[in-house]
Amino acid sequence: MSRFVVLFGPPGCGKGTQAARLKAALGVPHISTGDMFRDHKARKTELGKRVEAILASGALVPDDVTNEMVRERLAQADAKGGALLDGYPRNVGQAEVLDGILKDLGHRVDDVVVISVPEDELVRRLMERGKGSGRADDQDPAVIRNRLGVYRDQSEPCIGYYERTGKRVHRIDGVGSIDEITQRILGALGAAT
Ligand code: ADP
Repeated sequence: MSRFVVLFGPPGCGKGTQAARLKAALGVPHISTGDMFRDHKARKTELGKRVEAILASGALVPDDVTNEMVRERLAQADAKGGALLDGYPRNVGQAEVLDGILKDLGHRVDDVVVISVPEDELVRRLMERGKGSGRADDQDPAVIRNRLGVYRDQSEPCIGYYERTGKRVHRIDGVGSIDEITQRILGALGAAT
């Protein structure tokens, strides 16, 4: 049985941290579009050069670029049995494309995990992460506010889309210890199988 899980939530909610732990528990690869773009940027590929300024501003990379990158990634052998998607989809158009990509591969989105964290806590976490990681988009309060605005305006409507299309949507309280939150997510996913 395959397992395709969308990990969803605002910047700073802990998606990446949780994904790294969940992939072992679920036995599926972690596919982070943010990590993939940063990797292109670091390797100075054509795509990396194209997206560098967009990442720095906190805006979204154009859908055609992002969708194509995800389509190629999901076609790889390690994603045959499922994947943990982190940072994708980020708008309803991407969510529709993802349904198409998975359908073409004979799969579907099985679960959507929505991690909620209050906005003041998100800003605090992102600023803290910016000190250690060197991620430019985590160091500028204006860019952080922009990313939270993009989430509210463009990404949040995906939750309604998944509810309307009958997906299992699990709402998880993202405040607590990292372990507690992993257990909450595994509990929600386990209960749903
Ligand atoms: P965070 O969730 O902390 O904002 P990510 O690492 O998921 O960080 O994403 C970093 C940046 O990469 C985003 O601000 C955006 O510019 C770009 N990006 C990531 N995923 C997508 C996507 N699905 N569509 C468009 N742009 C994306």
